[in-house]
Amino acid sequence: MLAEIKGLNEECGIFGVYGHPQAAQMAYYGLHALQHRGQEGAGIVVSDGTELKQSKGPGLVTEVFNEHDLKALNGQAAIGHVRYSTAGGNSYENIQPLFFQSSTGSLAMAHNGNLVNAMKLREELETSGSIFQTTSDTEVIAHLIKRGKHQSRLENIKESLRALEGAYAIVMLTEDQLIAALDPRGMRPLSLGKVGSGYAIASETCAFDVVGAEYIREIHPGEILVIDEKGMHVDSFAQPKDRAICTMEYVYFARPDSNVDGDNIHSVRKRLGKTLADVSTVEADVVTGVPDSSISAAIGFAEQSGIPYELGLIKNRYVGRTFIQPSQELRERGVQMKLSAVRKIVEGKRVVMVDDSIVRGTTSKRIVKMLKEAGATEVHVRISSPPITHPCFYGIDTSTSGELMAANHSIEEMRDIIGADSLSFLPIKSMVEAVNREDLSPNCGHCLACFTGNYPTDLYDDSLPPYKKEQLIGARN
Ligand code: AMP
Ligand code: SF4
Repeated sequence: MLAEIKGLNEECGIFGVYGHPQAAQMAYYGLHALQHRGQEGAGIVVSDGTELKQSKGPGLVTEVFNEHDLKALNGQAAIGHVRYSTAGGNSYENIQPLFFQSSTGSLAMAHNGNLVNAMKLREELETSGSIFQTTSDTEVIAHLIKRGKHQSRLENIKESLRALEGAYAIVMLTEDQLIAALDPRGMRPLSLGKVGSGYAIASETCAFDVVGAEYIREIHPGEILVIDEKGMHVDSFAQPKDRAICTMEYVYFARPDSNVDGDNIHSVRKRLGKTLADVSTVEADVVTGVPDSSISAAIGFAEQSGIPYELGLIKNRYVGRTFIQPSQELRERGVQMKLSAVRKIVEGKRVVMVDDSIVRGTTSKRIVKMLKEAGATEVHVRISSPPITHPCFYGIDTSTSGELMAANHSIEEMRDIIGADSLSFLPIKSMVEAVNREDLSPNCGHCLACFTGNYPTDLYDDSLPPYKKEQLIGARN
């Protein structure tokens, strides 16, 4: 399985700005708003019109940059990236934006998503002489662009994008242009905004709010935007294919104050919670949500069921997400550090515990135990998405098949393992209806692969033998 080798797996946030005198500061604030999309590294590249300068490092946005760094990054255009890498791909070189210099000019690039043919492309490029410095998919794109045969750089970029398969939302920066592109299935969100007389691009609209940018529209699948001193040039590099936006963006990943395709994420999650209450009614005294991503769904569940919503679980807001801890033991300790049950609220009560998803089952198991230790008489777990039975190849870390609880156990077995009195998931159809996308593509434009195993693309790299994958990326991790 490709996902057994995690070197190329990334979930990230990207930001770009053009035409603002303090572009680096804008990128800093934009990335800060996108911090939930990646906490392991951050970078900014800025252009002053003649040269590109970069600053990047491991850690949170506030740890990576200081005032001095930002002052040194003077310019009117910038791109930035926050990175969440999984095991193996954590080296400094992999922190984005990646920055390439050549006789024909500089190019910086930041990418959110995961390609499913990166290894095949890398193999072809290596065979014909390319030497790679990182394990990141993004470098593959840069090599393709550099090898382009067209006179125009834009044509070379467009042709390179056409060679890619999988999920990619990309921002690029040259000395004089900001470029943004989205894969033909639109698997990741990417929005366009206006800031002063310039433009901003962001993975999520919450980044626009903090920098005072006004949302204009989504970037369309297969579209490429070029922004420079002449304004914005709208072009396309490929015909859009059936839309397959990542459903987990709605369920878990995006921030509740962001909008995707004009629909507010908090409202979508509330609808998921309401639908969940309809399909899995239970007699209980209080509803509580697992902070932060499940609060909206829990509120929806409470509203629909008539069972009062209470803050039965409190999060220590100064601890990062549990997923960033690599081992199971550390992950379990992470959950303990970050959540506490409120005894006065749950003691002697039948509690409905709403969470957005079960991946490995670590979170649910620990929380059920915590609630029972705090005196809950019954704990009914309600999950506002279907069981995750398949790994994601498109850049969300939903783990490998071997680790996915629902890939290896029936719902009754899962209930038993996590120690709940009952366990229910939201059926796929109900989830799709609750998100309510107005899209004529199959599945209303959703990717549902981690729930169904029906991947919207061929999985090219998955057919490579394991030794080849090790050769291509393993040695560099
Ligand atoms: P687990 O503890 O492995 O079952 O993971 C489920 C918990 O992690 C839920 O509380 C989710 O909010 C959260 N979660 C779901 N998907 C992801 C993801 N891709 N990355 C990080 N956390 C996630
Ligand atoms: Fe999102 Fe799941 Fe599709 Fe991955 S497989 S892109 S997590 S919906």
